[in-house]
Amino acid sequence: MHAVSLIVGAPALTLSVEIVPLLADNYGYLLSDLATGAVAVVDPAEAGPLLDRIRARGGRLDWILLTHHHGDHVAGTAELVAATGAKVAGAAADAHRLPPLDRRLVEGDRLELGRASARILATPGHTTGHIAYLFEATVDLFCADTLFVMGCGRLIEGDAPTMWASLEKLAALPPGTKVWCGHEYTLANARFALSVDPDNEALRTRARLVERLRAEDRPTVPSTIAEERATNPFLRARDPMIRRRLGLEAATDPEVFAALRRAKDGFRG
Ligand SMILES: [Zn+2]
Repeated sequence: MHAVSLIVGAPALTLSVEIVPLLADNYGYLLSDLATGAVAVVDPAEAGPLLDRIRARGGRLDWILLTHHHGDHVAGTAELVAATGAKVAGAAADAHRLPPLDRRLVEGDRLELGRASARILATPGHTTGHIAYLFEATVDLFCADTLFVMGCGRLIEGDAPTMWASLEKLAALPPGTKVWCGHEYTLANARFALSVDPDNEALRTRARLVERLRAEDRPTVPSTIAEERATNPFLRARDPMIRRRLGLEAATDPEVFAALRRAKDGFRG
C-alpha cells in the first residue's frame, strides 16, 4: 500500500506515503521526502510493524509526528525513539501528556521533513490539543481523529461548536487535498451516513465502492476533501435534505452538527 504524491513541473517536491495498519483499525503512516530521503512516522500506535518497514528501507527515521495524546496514537513512540534516535513533534498544548517532545507545535507552525514542509493546523474537538499536519506542496493532510472518511471523531474533550469549527477549517482546504485519517472506520461511517442522507447519489455510489474495498481488505484512505464535502454528513450540516430529515431546518450549523454527532453515538447500524 504505497502512494507517491507528485507535483507536475516540480519533480523534486515529492512525498511518498506508505499506509501501515496498526492494532485493530489504526493507520500509522510512513512518510518519505524523496528529494532528501528524510523519513517521518505519523501516530505510532505500536512500534513493531513500523520498525519492520523502517528497517526494510535502511533504518532511517527523522521525525515522529503526533496528532494527539491518546494511547492508540502514541504508544509506540518510546520504542521508535530508542531504536532510531528520531525526534518527536506534537502539540505544545498537550506537552504535559504526550511523550517527551523535541518540537512543541502550535497553529501556523511549520515542520520541515527534508525539503517537504508541513503546516500545523489546530483541530480541537476530539481532544483539546488535537493537531493536523498539512503538507501543502503535495496536499497531503494527516488529520487523525478529527476527520474520518465519511465520519468524524467523537467529542471526548471538546464541544460541538469547537469540533464544527475544526471540520470547517479542514473542509475549506483545496478540494484535491488527500485525507489520511487515523482509523479504518469507513464501513460503519457509510452506514450511518446513508441513514441521514439516503438520497445522496454520490454517497450511495461511494458506499458501494468502500464495501468492495473492505471486502478485499483494502484501505479506504486516502480520501479527498472534495469527496468528504460530497458524502460526509459531518461536513454537510448546511444540506437542506439532512436538515429536513433531522427536523432542524431553522437550526444553526453547529446545532445540526451536534445532532448528527449525537445520532452517530447512538447508531447501531
Ligand atoms: Zn483519539
